[in-house]
Amino acid sequence: MSQPVLYSELPWPEAERRVREGAPLFLPLGATEQHGRHMALGTDLVLPTAIAVRAARRVGGLVLPGIAYGNRSQPKTGGGPAFPGTINITANTFSLIVRDIICDLHRQKARRIVTVNGHYENVWPTIEGIELALDAIGRDKARDLTILRVDHWDMIRKETLERVFPDGYPGIELEHASVLETSMMLALRPELVDLTQAVHDGPASFLPYDRYPEPPAEVPASGVLSLTEGSAAEKGEWLLKDCEDGIVNIVNREFPSG
Ligand code: ZN
Ligand code: MN
Repeated sequence: MSQPVLYSELPWPEAERRVREGAPLFLPLGATEQHGRHMALGTDLVLPTAIAVRAARRVGGLVLPGIAYGNRSQPKTGGGPAFPGTINITANTFSLIVRDIICDLHRQKARRIVTVNGHYENVWPTIEGIELALDAIGRDKARDLTILRVDHWDMIRKETLERVFPDGYPGIELEHASVLETSMMLALRPELVDLTQAVHDGPASFLPYDRYPEPPAEVPASGVLSLTEGSAAEKGEWLLKDCEDGIVNIVNREFPSG
């Protein structure tokens, strides 16, 4: 497919035509959040946007401008608010942004929407935003609309995780700024990663409860919740390929006419 994939670069008649023809619309959901001393604040938007672009090229889709601010970073999954650089928005605000975008796309006859999320804390606010959009549109009127919600890490196959983590996968919550994200960023945007700045003070070992307002002392000072050791561009390419293929498969299954 050689059609342009970035929605924001199209003139309106072209956007209108592509939407009318049923192009799946990918909405990247990110954050501006610390990702250790070694990696860029925009990682959580860079990754889902790049994955969406790769998938969109294969299915004739369009990638919408992403949401660059995420629901509040939490200590156990993103380091939390104590780190300079992170800019949080509330779950309520985030879900209303998702709701408003879906409602306006539906008003403009878009019927195939795929959210591609790159920030753990966005999961439930995204679900809430989708539900609010369905309420606002009206459940009956929304029957012709399909919204697919994807967290990119869920597309990674078990076999690939076993190759990347021969000693065992620590789980996605602890993967913040760690091997998965660092490897994918090394593959995509190596200029945004500086492994010489990586500090090896993880992995975090969290207690099975949360404490407010003081974040737990168990958050590693670097902001990396697990480990960066073993990150490599080659692994990043395996991971990105899984994410791309996974989304292409989902879109082809859910939107069979293309
Ligand atoms: Zn991240
Ligand atoms: Mn995040």
